[in-house]
Amino acid sequence: MIISEQKSREELLQSLEGLQRLFLIGCGACATACKSGGEEEIFQMQEWLVAEGRDVTGYIVIDEACHIMRAARDLRQHQGAVEEAEALLVLACGAGIQSISSGTDKRVIGALNSLFLGNIRRFGQFEEKCSLCGACILNETAGICPVTTCAKGLLNGPCGGMEEGKCEADRELDCAWHLIYERLKRQDRKGVFRRPVPPKDWSRRRKPGSHKIKK
Ligand code: SF4
Ligand code: SF4
Repeated sequence: MIISEQKSREELLQSLEGLQRLFLIGCGACATACKSGGEEEIFQMQEWLVAEGRDVTGYIVIDEACHIMRAARDLRQHQGAVEEAEALLVLACGAGIQSISSGTDKRVIGALNSLFLGNIRRFGQFEEKCSLCGACILNETAGICPVTTCAKGLLNGPCGGMEEGKCEADRELDCAWHLIYERLKRQDRKGVFRRPVPPKDWSRRRKPGSHKIKK
């Protein structure tokens, strides 16, 4: 899921300068799980805006704000309140914010920062495991991603800074390549470690990404 956090109230106030009437939009998927843009956070935002002297014309929590068609459909059901607002304040990730802004000429203000694609360790604790490089090498690295987990993103580690299995960038963290080696050893696949991983084809990560599932 996309991990996000709320922008500081100071930053939000700057973005909202000169805007009186606002319609609030949350996301029922990732932003709800991150407690950055679900129903509870929408209510808190509404309370804060009213305390700051703003008018909230209405709100909605869209199931998945990044779904362009669904977001547009759900917003149409609140057309009056949306029209009344000078701007839409969106508590969703960057994809969700742009999904909303693609369907309107109204000003759209993003209230969140998108941080990374995250795994859930437990409620409220997320870890970055994949950077969406477009050409996955997990089959060569015992299911541990060095692109993301190694501080230098090395494809053939470990580097000379590894010490007793810890990373030179942060001695609290395990070296990704040490973890890869240990897991390959447990799987009796140490030979894989000696096989150099070829240079990565970064063209697969060209922006903006677009993908159609072939039928
Ligand atoms: S190699 Fe790492 S960053 Fe690339 S797709 Fe696989 S898990 Fe994601
Ligand atoms: S110590 Fe390991 S994880 Fe840290 S930068 Fe070097 S190879 Fe990467």
